[in-house]
Amino acid sequence: MAKKSQAAKAVKMVYYFGKKKTEGKGHPKALLGGKGLNLAEMTSIGLPVPPGFTITTEVCGDYYKSGKQLPKGLMDEVHEAVETLEQELGKKFGDNDNPLLVSVRSGAAVSMPGMMNTILNLGLNDVAVEGLAKATKNERFAFDAYRRLINMYGDVVMGLPHHSFEEAFDKIKKKYKVTEDTDVPAEGLRELCEAYKAVYKKDAGEDFPQDPIKQLQLAIEAVFGSWNADRAISYRRIEAAKGNSEIANLIGTAVNVQAMVYGNMGDDSGTGVGFTRDPNTGQNKFYGEFLINAQGEDVVAGIRTPQPVSEMGKWDKAAHKELMEIKKTLETHYKEMQDIEFTIEKGKLFMLQTRTGKRNGIAAVKIACDMVKEGLITEKEAVLRVPASDLTHCLLPSFKPTARNAADVLCRGLNASPGAAVGKLAFTAPEARERHEAGEEVILVRRETSPEDVEGMSAACGILTSTGGATSHAAVVARGWGKCCVAGASDVHINEKAKKITVTDAEGNTRTFTAKDTISLDGTTGEVMAGEVETQEPKLSGDFAKLMQWADKYRTLKIRTNADSPADSKRARDFGAEGIGLCRTEHMFFEADRIIHMRSMILADTEADRRAALKKLLPFQRKDFEGIFKAMAGCPVTVRLLDPPLHEFLPHEAAAQKQMAEELDVKPAEIKKRSSALHESNPMLGHRGCRLSITYPEILEMQVQAIVEAAISCAKKKIDAQPEIMIPLVGTAAELQILREKVEATIEKTVAAKKFEGKLNILIGTMIEIPRACLTADEVAEYADFFSFGTNDLTQMTFGYSRDDVGGFLPDYIEHKIVPVDPFQSLDQSGVGQLVEMGVTKGRSKKTKLKIGICGEHGGDPASVGFCNKVGLDYVSCSPFRVPIARLAAAQAALSQK
Ligand code: PEP
Ligand code: MG
Repeated sequence: MAKKSQAAKAVKMVYYFGKKKTEGKGHPKALLGGKGLNLAEMTSIGLPVPPGFTITTEVCGDYYKSGKQLPKGLMDEVHEAVETLEQELGKKFGDNDNPLLVSVRSGAAVSMPGMMNTILNLGLNDVAVEGLAKATKNERFAFDAYRRLINMYGDVVMGLPHHSFEEAFDKIKKKYKVTEDTDVPAEGLRELCEAYKAVYKKDAGEDFPQDPIKQLQLAIEAVFGSWNADRAISYRRIEAAKGNSEIANLIGTAVNVQAMVYGNMGDDSGTGVGFTRDPNTGQNKFYGEFLINAQGEDVVAGIRTPQPVSEMGKWDKAAHKELMEIKKTLETHYKEMQDIEFTIEKGKLFMLQTRTGKRNGIAAVKIACDMVKEGLITEKEAVLRVPASDLTHCLLPSFKPTARNAADVLCRGLNASPGAAVGKLAFTAPEARERHEAGEEVILVRRETSPEDVEGMSAACGILTSTGGATSHAAVVARGWGKCCVAGASDVHINEKAKKITVTDAEGNTRTFTAKDTISLDGTTGEVMAGEVETQEPKLSGDFAKLMQWADKYRTLKIRTNADSPADSKRARDFGAEGIGLCRTEHMFFEADRIIHMRSMILADTEADRRAALKKLLPFQRKDFEGIFKAMAGCPVTVRLLDPPLHEFLPHEAAAQKQMAEELDVKPAEIKKRSSALHESNPMLGHRGCRLSITYPEILEMQVQAIVEAAISCAKKKIDAQPEIMIPLVGTAAELQILREKVEATIEKTVAAKKFEGKLNILIGTMIEIPRACLTADEVAEYADFFSFGTNDLTQMTFGYSRDDVGGFLPDYIEHKIVPVDPFQSLDQSGVGQLVEMGVTKGRSKKTKLKIGICGEHGGDPASVGFCNKVGLDYVSCSPFRVPIARLAAAQAALSQK
């Protein structure tokens, strides 16, 4: 082996794990990657792990920084680690007698299932394969391993087309008259290796490399290279867009080089993957699959359909028992559900990997609650354990039992990821993406999915595959995303070219479905149904309620909702909302019986005409407010006065303008003229928000009168209404001063007119959504009982990105890492966040107890909720479905920011 060069490292690049030494234990995951760190940990707690070494993620970072060059000294360290490995195992790398073979696998700090490259059986060559056959007394096995290496190496390192290898294999199978890979005899595999080498030479233009060290070096580079493969980049982008900020900041992947063990040594060998608990339901039952006489990739790729681990005892009782003991050891050590890979070589069990198991939100909640019961973790740890955004999975729809019973069930596959999906068939990932972007709900139907399909999987509402198990790529990715998936539905025959599927149903009828047809998938039972089956909302009891109770115990932020109808208010209350943080009154004007009065108000030339129209709107507003106050009785309801520019209420198309003209008995030209006069080039910066009330105070007066009358009516019925009046888009203290006076005067006038003698206590506050309002928040606070950050507009105005067309360029911005995530979804803490913080500090410098909340979309984003907690907001407000997420995120922030 080569000597260490003089340029040798200041920084350690390779960490060994094995009986000789375990160098990686306790080092950060960011350095060793998840797989590398866990191999070191498993080794150190005495589990049977084949020895090996990990090349750090920093090396990958350096590889890219230096224009895809391995850093100096790396291969010296690799040689040194290989030597230690050889000593530990008593085998030699590249030996022609009993050669040491290794696997080379990726392993970033955040798991990216199947997105990067793996090479197995590395170290074999024409001579070593004979040595392996001799040493194992198994010629068939040795040549099977060699043909896999040539194929995988050609595929991964050289990028050779897979089909050339497939064709060569088919020829051999034909020659030996067999259909299964496992039935090809040793001599057939020997011939296959020759055929594969010929394919390699033809396609690569050079011989398959016989020097194992060269193989190893190129394999390491190939794994680093796969970090920036399109599919890996897509996966990271999709995950980052879902709020996984950790994945956006990774520097690269680690590489794990590990001594091979073989699951394909015969019928006493096998390989499997599994979860220590059920990742779909959370049940405390080992959930996994294994294949006899196979290598690991066969399970994940979904090529053969494996058997459940619950059947493993029948095949090898001792190995099954040991696996169940390892389940316990791992859970006691990690205090977490684990996702493992194992191999049985001639009856001996080896652990190849463990990592925190991905699970859907339903399973996450159950596992957290169960682990508290089992004494493995505390209540607080349970609260911190469940990713807040994954609670959406608990809120997933299912099929209505009545509709389900009547459903036309075509067949059943594996219940790979729960939920209910209804959509039209899409046959390729790009098709799924395009049709989704055009507004269609589609179900992606594939024989099996590959990592290239991630964009289409993300776009589809559900995924259906005809082969593969519950741990196949489709299943793992779908579960991580909480997306409904039925896998391995073998009765579904897919004709991708003709864009149709045929299914033979229980009665033996063959039925055909095309891209125009709708099907329904039940990811919870695995059933595939024809047509659209009606869905229903989930129930929120049991473990979910318990976790929410714990969250409420530890959070200090209040959680409100953005709602503008009694139905939404009720739903949000059921989800635990403690008030309304934003009631957008404009939504109340669009219904058919109201819009006409709104339009007539807009068209009016005189104040008197405007007031006449507003008078007609008043009863509608009053009734709406009363309904909402009632649904939110005992809780504050922040009602925002009219905000959008008025042209939004006018029809823009000629036909609609004509109809409106007829209804209002005016000339269409008049409407057109008024509509274009009002249409500004950027209406978001135009005549809207409080500016409307300055120009047309009668609008404010009507709305405030409706609020007060509704509150009085509630008081008379002993309903505890707590309205708060919010003035939007304030940028100067003077705006608020003027409008506050108007609101107060209207309240007084309405109370007097109604001769109401009770107490109303209506707060008057403002939205803080213009940068200037943040800069002068001390001045604004003088006239405000509360602030509510409108971070949608604040983000728009701080970045200068229009909310209406940001979608046109944002994907490019995220791809180029100009912004880490969509700033309209997750608050830009370093920029917009400064303004929020300044608003809070300045506002409270004037009024120490000033109540402050947020009602932009960010109020339901866990990272943003964490920020709101940190800067001292009193509440966040978000859409009803995100209320549970905000409750949990608030508790997590309170616990982790202590
Ligand atoms: C905001 O700007 O953040 C907000 C809540 O108001 P809207 O989205 O209605 O402009
Ligand atoms: Mg706004």
